[in-house]
Amino acid sequence: MPLSGNQEWRSELAKLPVPLAVSSDPISMACLKSLIEKGRVSREQGISLFENPSLSSVTSLADMVKKSRYGNNVFFNENLHVNTTNICVLACRFCAFRKGPRHPEAYSLDIDEYLDRIRPLSDSIDEVHTVGGLHPKWDVNDYCKLFSATKEEFPDIHIKALTAVEIKHLSKLSSLSIEETLTRLSDAGLDSLPGGGAEILVDQVRDRICMGKESSQEYLDIHSVAHQIGMPTNCTMLFGTVESIEDRVTHLIRLRQQQDVSKGFQCFVPYPFLPDKTRLPEAQLATGSEIIRVISISRILLDNIPHIKAYRMNIGDKLSSLALTCGADDIDGTVGHEEIMHVAGSSTRLDTSTDQLAALVKSSRSIPVKRNSNYSSFERYSTSNPSYSRVLPQIGMT
Ligand code: SF4
Repeated sequence: MPLSGNQEWRSELAKLPVPLAVSSDPISMACLKSLIEKGRVSREQGISLFENPSLSSVTSLADMVKKSRYGNNVFFNENLHVNTTNICVLACRFCAFRKGPRHPEAYSLDIDEYLDRIRPLSDSIDEVHTVGGLHPKWDVNDYCKLFSATKEEFPDIHIKALTAVEIKHLSKLSSLSIEETLTRLSDAGLDSLPGGGAEILVDQVRDRICMGKESSQEYLDIHSVAHQIGMPTNCTMLFGTVESIEDRVTHLIRLRQQQDVSKGFQCFVPYPFLPDKTRLPEAQLATGSEIIRVISISRILLDNIPHIKAYRMNIGDKLSSLALTCGADDIDGTVGHEEIMHVAGSSTRLDTSTDQLAALVKSSRSIPVKRNSNYSSFERYSTSNPSYSRVLPQIGMT
């Protein structure tokens, strides 16, 4: 199988042995049949997978789909997160990151401070991932200057930055259309959008958890414009707040419909709300099994989005390695620094080396493959460090 994956994955799926967990479960068998014969599962089947008492059948089916596309390969890149500012004019109810401008912990990085964050790692990363709050004064020109300066010093680093709501905010502040805003940012060096802020693409849910943010349709329209000008994007889902099963399926179907038209989503990144005692006390939360179920169903429903990511900054390394056997084929990279999930309560380590990340992938009996940001170049990762040549003690060695 090529490292880029198998375009004819549906016919490969038909050839794979069917695990007992799937063959003994009528719901999963019906979904497998639909994927092979019709190419996709229906909304009703998506709901039935969420309601299916047999989690093992859902995860096994997702693993089949993943394997039909990528075999045992799992992708990662070497990246760095830099958050430009935590000052935000909105106050989404789930957000632990934002601060008001006069808050003692409010900050805004200037261009030199931003470049200072990249400099120490510039030889070992190929992507900088940048999102932040909606700063009341920063407009398109400020971000163009930031991206131009970044490309001038680090021309080979891919800039993945700005969520849809940040694009909307910049277009309003600068009195530009979304297309003009994205084109100017692209000309200055922006390479792709990370996809954050989709939350749940159902406006009744958005009104309860992130009033004032872009609407569901605006999120999709902004990504559609990015795709039209040739800028790839990711897409996300924040679950475990106040949404229903139907809302989750609506979210996935809306992304699938958008992808049918604009085709520019590279990767889907589902992650649960990280709770504390103050934000969204009515949130339903998501257990480990629920997180794994959402990742699995994402793989089964999103037949036209190439990659599903285990976002270890949010779900942790242990659950991420399990997710790689339940439909996810991609895992967040070396990261180095991250604030949004860590302010919200994540305890995922930020000093993970590439060797350690590869060992985590191998622990799920997968093959680590280093990729670039837009999934156009791939390389099997092997380490020369004997400490990481095996991931578990051999029997009799402990
Ligand atoms: S989620 Fe984004 S837009 Fe909402 S308050 Fe936080 S930083 Fe602001």
